[in-house]
Amino acid sequence: MQMPASESGAPEREGLGEPRLELFSYIPESALVVVAHPDDADFLAAALLSCWCRQGCRGAVCVVTDGDAGSDDASIPLGELSRIRMEEQRRASAHLGVSEVRCLGYPDGLLQPGLELRRDLVRLIRELRPEALVTMDPSRRWFGRGYLNHPDHRAAADAALDAAFPSARDARVFPELVREEGLQPHKVRFVLVGASEPDIAVPLEPRDIENQLAALGEHRSQFDASEMGPEMEREAREGGARAGVAMAATYKLFDLVPNPSQRGYQRQEGREEGLPAPPEQASQWG
Ligand SMILES: [Zn+2]
Repeated sequence: MQMPASESGAPEREGLGEPRLELFSYIPESALVVVAHPDDADFLAAALLSCWCRQGCRGAVCVVTDGDAGSDDASIPLGELSRIRMEEQRRASAHLGVSEVRCLGYPDGLLQPGLELRRDLVRLIRELRPEALVTMDPSRRWFGRGYLNHPDHRAAADAALDAAFPSARDARVFPELVREEGLQPHKVRFVLVGASEPDIAVPLEPRDIENQLAALGEHRSQFDASEMGPEMEREAREGGARAGVAMAATYKLFDLVPNPSQRGYQRQEGREEGLPAPPEQASQWG
């Protein structure tokens, strides 16, 4: 078993290859994925959600924009594409066992990480009370030579991180949410950032990749996922190889409410003696 990065101080390097990743097989009680567009969540976290939800995690997806800019087809009436894409998102999330899909309805293509968006995300976090929040890396301005990161991706992720910490935690930030809506502060324990320099690997099974492909396959208004299987598998195998497992999804992890008695983030069979206690505020959502 490798030394967790948290104990060794830095991820180990193996030869000249990529840094070895800490295995994260802990299953959160609840997880919220925040992304800009319908389909983003399924590239970012479909296999992760499949893995966590089949092991008892309550999964939720929040799509911040209405997705209405995702076509050049002028014959599609305004608003219709949004309806189609959110329906695709709901069907996609159903493949993963996700119980909750929300859309905040911000105009697609014009997203800004302002206070209105942050308040809406704080409201959602205080309502759903997720133990883990998953989003993109807002600092990624580009990837390779062929892709400038979409401004909505950066804005949604930026607002999501600010909402998770510190705004959802602090009663005196957006106090009207407590006063008028009865939404008490909530500490998100884990934040997982994708499309970033990863430091953890969440072990997957082949069925998680199958579920991810099924989820991606629902976004028919956007792309044809029928050829994506080998690429998804390759990514999962490369992630797994960095943590000594067959397949894994990789993320950058923040543990904002560390449990001092917990060493590493290994899989726990139930929540019994000697296992890390869930954070005090992790709770149900209905
Ligand atoms: Zn997108």
